[in-house]
Amino acid sequence: MQNALTKEINTTNLPTKEGRFGEFGGSYIPPQLQAVMDEITQAYEQIVQDPAFLNELSDLQKHYVGRPSPVYHAKRLSDAVGGAQIYLKREDLNHTGAHKINHCIGEVLLAKKLGKKKVIAETGAGQHGVALATAAALMGLECDIYMGAVDIKKEAPNVSRMKILGATVVEVTRGTKTLKDAVDAAFEAYLQDPVTQIYCIGSVVGPHPFPMMVRDFQSVVGIEARKQIQEMTGSLPDAIVACVGGGSNAMGIFSAFLDDKLVKLYGVEPAGRGLDTPDHAATITKGSVGILHGFKSLLLQDEKGEALPVYSIASGLDYPGVGPQHSYLHSIGRVIYDSATDREAVEAFYGLSRMEGIIPALESSHAVAHAIKLAQKMSKDEVILVNLSGRGDKDIDFVMEHYPLVEYEPQEGGDGFEEFLAHIKQK
Ligand SMILES: *Cc1c(COP(=O)(O)O)cnc(C)c1O
Repeated sequence: MQNALTKEINTTNLPTKEGRFGEFGGSYIPPQLQAVMDEITQAYEQIVQDPAFLNELSDLQKHYVGRPSPVYHAKRLSDAVGGAQIYLKREDLNHTGAHKINHCIGEVLLAKKLGKKKVIAETGAGQHGVALATAAALMGLECDIYMGAVDIKKEAPNVSRMKILGATVVEVTRGTKTLKDAVDAAFEAYLQDPVTQIYCIGSVVGPHPFPMMVRDFQSVVGIEARKQIQEMTGSLPDAIVACVGGGSNAMGIFSAFLDDKLVKLYGVEPAGRGLDTPDHAATITKGSVGILHGFKSLLLQDEKGEALPVYSIASGLDYPGVGPQHSYLHSIGRVIYDSATDREAVEAFYGLSRMEGIIPALESSHAVAHAIKLAQKMSKDEVILVNLSGRGDKDIDFVMEHYPLVEYEPQEGGDGFEEFLAHIKQK
């Protein structure tokens, strides 16, 4: 379905009215919740035709988030890798340091226009909670963030951020006390009062209309990047690379290029400790069709259809499902899904930091790792555009503790970075 946010993109006639991308997507929720989702769908479709809404959104994108984010040619990294030219779409430079603010601003603006008093959401590592709390503070709405007790302990700085921003962090003590239980608790709270509150999902997942709506709010990334890269290089890129957790930053950049059949699109999933171990979250690579959190998609599940516990070094990527449009784009072969391990992500994290002075989020480092591999197989006049979804400040303590810099120091007499890249290239 086309609307004012996506009018510059020719292709996106999906999802269908029922929220389907091929066999994927849709809505598998109790009737009571379905009525609420139908209401949100209707309101969304109206509001994106409203010039006042669109003006306010683009004003906030420009003056609050800092859009357009730049595209940057990572020359030193490209030279060192010795293949295609690597360009970065700098979503790490947005206010709050990642792409999530793009859809949170949209969702909270929608909530305000609908006359809601409160936005609610779940959070795992706290990234979505912080972005939503930010947008809620900006627009003067109340904000409840449901978070597992285990995650609250682990993610203290983000819990503090949310509280400082005025959000209430609701501790969830059932089950494994992590993300999945937080989702259940938040949905229950929503069902109890869908009138004054609205649920704001953190990626292109969940029942219709969220995969569509979150994608549309993120599509600004691809629309900007398409113009910027053509201005800089005179043509479209040969390849685009983005990491895939739920899949919102990837859909944001892919959407504007889906019709450009010569532009190869790559989604990078977290291979964790390896695809042959249980410790990964490579949903498309290893999953099967199932239903989770109200939508049909590929899923990492056991024989009973229960979501498996998943793992990645990047907490923003460890989700057992994936946005339904990704499952669809995989099924038709438009996007190639591959994966990067924890170790490859950490190497890319150090590589980009040392070569360009840009510390990427561990999530985004998966995309950088894949671009480094891909670039080596391409020629010097080809171009890879990477969506750098966020900055790595949140990850520095963890990386230094578990993957200390000393492992990457030069051998005696050697040049540190030659060694480092030789190491990357051995694989
Ligand atoms: C949350 C997060 C992701 C993963 O979410 P998607 O919906 O897959 O984009 C990626 N990068 C960063 C920096 C994040 O915070």
